[in-house]
Amino acid sequence: MAFLYIDSFVPGASELPGIVDDKNFLLKRIKLVLLKISGPPVITSYGYLYPEPPKGLDRRRDGLKANYKKIWDDTIIAFDWNTYGATANVKTYEINIGEFFLKKEIHDLDMQKVVLHETLHLMVDLPNSFSFALHHGQINKIISKGLNLPGPPNPFCPD
Ligand SMILES: [Zn+2]
Repeated sequence: MAFLYIDSFVPGASELPGIVDDKNFLLKRIKLVLLKISGPPVITSYGYLYPEPPKGLDRRRDGLKANYKKIWDDTIIAFDWNTYGATANVKTYEINIGEFFLKKEIHDLDMQKVVLHETLHLMVDLPNSFSFALHHGQINKIISKGLNLPGPPNPFCPD
C-alpha cells in the first residue's frame, strides 16, 4: 500500500501563516489526487495507505516492471522542503513533492499527472542506466494514450 506521509505536509509551528495555508491546501489536493488515482485509503494514525496501484495501468501495454504492484506497495509520498519540483527515488521508492506545488493556481489534473509521472519513473521497465529523460517518452505516452488524460502529459516538465 502506498504511504502518504501526512506529517510531512502538516505545517510546523514555526511556519509562516501563508505557508500553513498553502501546505494544508496542497495536502488536501494530494489526497484528492490519490483518491482519484488509487481509490479510498486505509487511514492510520501515522498516515494514509492506498491499497490499489494506479487505475488503468496495463503492465504489457505500458511496459511496466513485473513487480509494479509491489513497487506501489513500497512507495512513500512526502512533502520535502529540499525538493523544488517533484522527484522519485528509484532505490527508496520515495516520491518527494516540493514547494513549487504549494501554488494554489495549480490544477488538480496537472497535480494528478505529476504524481503519476513520478510513480511511473519507479514502474517503467527500462534499464537503470537510462537517465530519467529517457523515461519520459514512455511515461508521457502512458499518461496521454494509456490513461487517456487530456492536455499535455508533462505540464511542468518535472524530473
Ligand atoms: Zn521525470
